[in-house]
Amino acid sequence: MDPVDSAGGGRRPGLTKGGGGTSVADRPLLEVEGLHTQFRTDDGLVRAVDGVDLTIGRGEVLAVVGESGCGKSIMARSILRLIDKPGRITGGHIRVHTEDAVVDMATADGPAVRTVRGRKIAMVFQEPIAAMSPMHTLGNQLGEAVRLHEGADKKEARKRSVELLRRVGIPAPERRIDEYPFQMSGGMLQRVMIAMALSCGPELLIADEPTTALDVTTQAQILDLLRSLQQDTGMAVMLITHDLGVAAQMADRVAVMYLGRVVEDGPLDDVFRAPRHPYTKALLGSVPKLGSGSRARLTPVRGMVPSAYRRPSGCPFHPRCDAFMAGRCDVTVPTPVREPDRPGAVSCLLYEEDSA
Ligand code: SF4
Repeated sequence: MDPVDSAGGGRRPGLTKGGGGTSVADRPLLEVEGLHTQFRTDDGLVRAVDGVDLTIGRGEVLAVVGESGCGKSIMARSILRLIDKPGRITGGHIRVHTEDAVVDMATADGPAVRTVRGRKIAMVFQEPIAAMSPMHTLGNQLGEAVRLHEGADKKEARKRSVELLRRVGIPAPERRIDEYPFQMSGGMLQRVMIAMALSCGPELLIADEPTTALDVTTQAQILDLLRSLQQDTGMAVMLITHDLGVAAQMADRVAVMYLGRVVEDGPLDDVFRAPRHPYTKALLGSVPKLGSGSRARLTPVRGMVPSAYRRPSGCPFHPRCDAFMAGRCDVTVPTPVREPDRPGAVSCLLYEEDSA
């Protein structure tokens, strides 16, 4: 498809008119294909995202899991073009399917990016306090988002902001709307961030470790809130988390990332009950299972995630893998393998035909 301006027929980077003849309901909401995001630093090149492929459908909850440093957050920020220099997207596609056009966020220009950010895809971050201005009240910040995206006047924006705060469970929203972020707890601030994200009615909410900084009780409340909002609005959610328990509570599908790549993906039950990739198996072996008894021994994933500057050759997981095949895993980069009887894919040489 040629990139064309859906409004006027002039060429615009990253914008493709129409959806290839299929209705919008039949297309995924988001398709990430061969995405590369790199950071060129004085110490060398960091390939933070190294060929990620994934899709997310309308109304679906996808959990992206993996240890810290596996590129989950950079991948999520790349989708909204929130990568700061010296980082940049160096390859691949991030196709967002809208009613009448496909926007490729990897190459889109500023106006096209703004049609997606907030309106189609919104994001909540791990540390809400860092994402908010300490100098402005909640009402100022939420109201500005509402005015920007809905064109509401000041009075209407305040009314709508109060409604949003009530919807995310802030008590006495008429009073608290005039408070500053430092007057609120971490859990309350995360609710405000979710209200801000919802203010534009997004079709996809990316939640980047939304509960990591919270205590266990507040974490459960925020997850309940996200789940009920997802069910009420029908929006899709991409949940970035290192916590497999959080993924198990929330997700329909899981994508497991290691060193900038998706190494296994599929429906939650398939991946968690019958994992295929040695990394997925190791991750699942490191967390307690319900009913396994208090004496059950947990096995942490062997070794550490390698330095971003020293990426292993071949399969990047090979220095930590219990199924390592010398002369093969340290030489050949695995490609995604799909099995006819199981949705999803796994990138491991154990599943490639000539390894048998
Ligand atoms: Fe382990 Fe080899 Fe599979 Fe990599 S390709 S996960 S090293 S068995």
